[in-house]
Amino acid sequence: MTSESGRVDGDSRIHAVRRLVNGPVSQCGAGKIVAGVPGRFNPADPDACPECSTLAAGS
Ligand SMILES: [Zn+2]
Repeated sequence: MTSESGRVDGDSRIHAVRRLVNGPVSQCGAGKIVAGVPGRFNPADPDACPECSTLAAGS
């Protein structure tokens, strides 16, 4: 199961997106997604958030 990917304010990582009723947030808890990134979250991407990668691997 792969997530959508997106960016939050305050860092340059690509995060895995969790869709909540209030809007999308990062799976690692870094905050709200402010910009979507095309394609699915890829833990092998060098810009991928390490915490989201760990969470993605565990699910
Ligand atoms: Zn993250």
